[in-house]
Amino acid sequence: MAVCARLCGVGPSRGCRRRQQRRGPAETAAADSEADTDPEEERIEAGAAALAGAGGGRGAGPSPPPRCSLLELPPELLVEIFASLPGTDLPSLAQVCTKFRRILHTDTIWRRRCREVLHRYRHILGLWQPDIGPYGGLLNVVVDGLFIIGWMYLPPHDPHVDDPMRFKPLFRVHLMERKSATVECMYGHRGPHNGHIQIVKKDEFSTKCNQTDHHRMSGGRQEEFRTWLREEWGRTLEDIFHEHMQELILMKFIYTSQYDNCLTYRRIYLPPSHPDDLIRPGLFKGTYGSHGLEIVMLSFHGKRARGTKITGDPNIPAGQQTVEIDLMHRIQLPDVESLRSFNELSRIVLEVREQVRQEQQQREEDGAEDGEGRAPQSPREPQRGPAQPSVELPAEKGGGPADGEAAAAAAPAPEQPAQSGQGQPFVLPVGVSSRNEDYPRTCRMCFYGTGLIAGHGFTSPERTPGVFILFDEDRFGFIWLELKSFSLYSRVRATFRNAEAPSPQAFEEMLKNIQSLTS
Ligand SMILES: [Zn+2]
Repeated sequence: MAVCARLCGVGPSRGCRRRQQRRGPAETAAADSEADTDPEEERIEAGAAALAGAGGGRGAGPSPPPRCSLLELPPELLVEIFASLPGTDLPSLAQVCTKFRRILHTDTIWRRRCREVLHRYRHILGLWQPDIGPYGGLLNVVVDGLFIIGWMYLPPHDPHVDDPMRFKPLFRVHLMERKSATVECMYGHRGPHNGHIQIVKKDEFSTKCNQTDHHRMSGGRQEEFRTWLREEWGRTLEDIFHEHMQELILMKFIYTSQYDNCLTYRRIYLPPSHPDDLIRPGLFKGTYGSHGLEIVMLSFHGKRARGTKITGDPNIPAGQQTVEIDLMHRIQLPDVESLRSFNELSRIVLEVREQVRQEQQQREEDGAEDGEGRAPQSPREPQRGPAQPSVELPAEKGGGPADGEAAAAAAPAPEQPAQSGQGQPFVLPVGVSSRNEDYPRTCRMCFYGTGLIAGHGFTSPERTPGVFILFDEDRFGFIWLELKSFSLYSRVRATFRNAEAPSPQAFEEMLKNIQSLTS
């Protein structure tokens, strides 16, 4: 109302009934869809006129000033005027009358507003890893309606690797504001509250909560821990019989809750993809024994594939390379009966390890560099044989085209039909422990690889031999020979926007950076 009056300025009369004769072509078209005698409009006009009346001379002179109201202005002009108002005024302005509402719905205003705020915050869109000691994490900052929202992605509950990722908002920025955009912290269970974002440099920013009392629960630390446990693990501490696991969980709670008032994020990119890659690179959820599920990024580097931890644990922190796959050394698994013998598998793997060691020695003697530029002899080649009856893969749990992940998730990437054939029976050797008995019973091919193990606090890290098992386009496994354990990995199907690396070099650089931070 106040806005209306201020803008009207001169119109002393009760509305301008003559606007039909004076309106421009744009308004003619717009007005066609609306009755001219909108009672709401008349009421507003009357109000506006009354407010504006103070300045105008009510029929004072013989030639009154031309009668005019805000409603007479062509919509293009109103768009200009409205766009210059503080964004917070726009919702109430839209309630003034149907015409205003219509004009405000013309998107242009919002888009312009968004552009302004977006411009300031454009550097925070994309994928980020929070600096939470060894634990890491995955944050996707996206434009969502009239907000920029920072979504923290969490793995599903252990050990259900095929379940969709979970996500919760950590902060949001209103795009409607004009001067200083409002930043709200979304942490805790008591709704949005005052927060702050500091863009440190292009690939780093920090969030700060100004009202951490909003994170506290009435039941104190105990209630906070129980709630966290339920969300993070989907269980109660009593359900978790394993004593070491209880300790790890408690430690994670104590450690991560220190970071509830301030977090620093560093940019990460999704791995670039190449048609020759064994499977599409990307993010996977993997089982890590007592540590629960962790997020791992699979990327291809010529003769090698790497699994880099995006989330980590006190043994192997986020940023480290958990598995490395030697694409030049395939492992032929024996038939299922022999595969049940751990010793048989161990013998095969150690043989390959010896071969790798000798080849490396030979290269060193030849003075050749163990470069990574050359692509392996297309690991996909063996798949291109004669058509075989395709192996029916179990349907994804919690299916649906977007797998129930982020609302804006795109349709799943098309499967490559040639890849679904030629399954080979697979079973875990007796004695190899797995969090998930529900692992695939056929595989496409296996490779020699190494897995990183270390003591608590990342002490004495060591790459140990193992077997990489490719199950299908979306799942792989790794047998840790020394640990006698098996990790199952399943593709994260959520779609992340603004997450492509500007160049392959930028991606390599990013991997190196996140690794050095926790080394
Ligand atoms: Zn907060």
